[in-house]
Amino acid sequence: MFDIKHNTTTEALVIHQKGDLRLDTLPLAPPLEGQTLIRLAWGGICGSDMHYLMHGGVGASVLKEPMILGHEVSGFVEALGPGESRFQVGEAVAIHPARPCGHCPECMRGMRHLCRNMCFFGSAARYPHTDGGFRRHMVVQSTQLHALPAGLDVKAASMAEPFSVALHAIARAGDIRGKKVMVQGAGPIGSLIVAGLKVGGAQSIVATDLHDFALTIAHHLGATAVFNTSQAVHEDEYDIVFEATGASTALSNAIMRTQKGGTLIQVGMFPPGDVSAPLSQIIAREIDYRGTFRFDHEFENALHILANNPWIAAHLITRSFPLEQYSEAFALSMDRKKSSKVILEM
Ligand SMILES: [Zn+2]
Ligand SMILES: [Zn+2]
Repeated sequence: MFDIKHNTTTEALVIHQKGDLRLDTLPLAPPLEGQTLIRLAWGGICGSDMHYLMHGGVGASVLKEPMILGHEVSGFVEALGPGESRFQVGEAVAIHPARPCGHCPECMRGMRHLCRNMCFFGSAARYPHTDGGFRRHMVVQSTQLHALPAGLDVKAASMAEPFSVALHAIARAGDIRGKKVMVQGAGPIGSLIVAGLKVGGAQSIVATDLHDFALTIAHHLGATAVFNTSQAVHEDEYDIVFEATGASTALSNAIMRTQKGGTLIQVGMFPPGDVSAPLSQIIAREIDYRGTFRFDHEFENALHILANNPWIAAHLITRSFPLEQYSEAFALSMDRKKSSKVILEM
């Protein structure tokens, strides 16, 4: 049993600058009112974590000070703040990584996930940066904790965050039941979109990627057909297309694969700067081109779908490593020919 009186430090995976990731020992404060101390169990490595390591930033979020990475995390309640009674010590929880301000114009309009003052785990969007959850212990706001539905283990629960991203992207597309859908890019998010489409009742789901390994994962997660676009030209058109590569060169293909009157959802994060694409086709083909960013209430739904469909996390997670082997874990997760979701055991 963890005793806060005797344990006042914890280990955390800190990005100091581009290429400089270290397991540091940091002070640990007891939980205050409204807070809970969590013993972290599992944490998924995300594309944004890899971007901080490789480039020192993601899009406009540039590291200005060391920051703890990780936002796809689950764990166990270790100690409760004063007066806290919603959770019990020892209970397994998934942690919603977002803390919106609650009073900005976006929060007031009910779009909390687009909060302009958002504190999101492991993000340098704000200064001081918001630390993430790749650590042995952390104190979190109790409102960010979600109990696990029956049948969901704490390892699979760490996938609630990326699956919420996928479910929000699908919600942006409107009604998907009976639709012909293409998912361009079968990385972890693209593959989770495939899984969400299958559970949601899409008629057919075609996944495309440059790597066969990714396509195998997408197939396991419910793709009815897969195309390796490095090997074959693919010219069909779809009711709905999800662009999940974020490669600026991939947008023109996504537009041309969306049928007239269809919907194109931009999921992948483009690199900074302008992207060139045949936008006149958006007009002439009457395409609805929509963005999707993070998620909000989808988190609870993600937990329930993961609990009822254990095959999703089982196929998505291709490898796990103990926290101290973070170098190997990050190296493998960057190799798309050999891995999909790699997770850290804390
Ligand atoms: Zn993520
Ligand atoms: Zn706000």
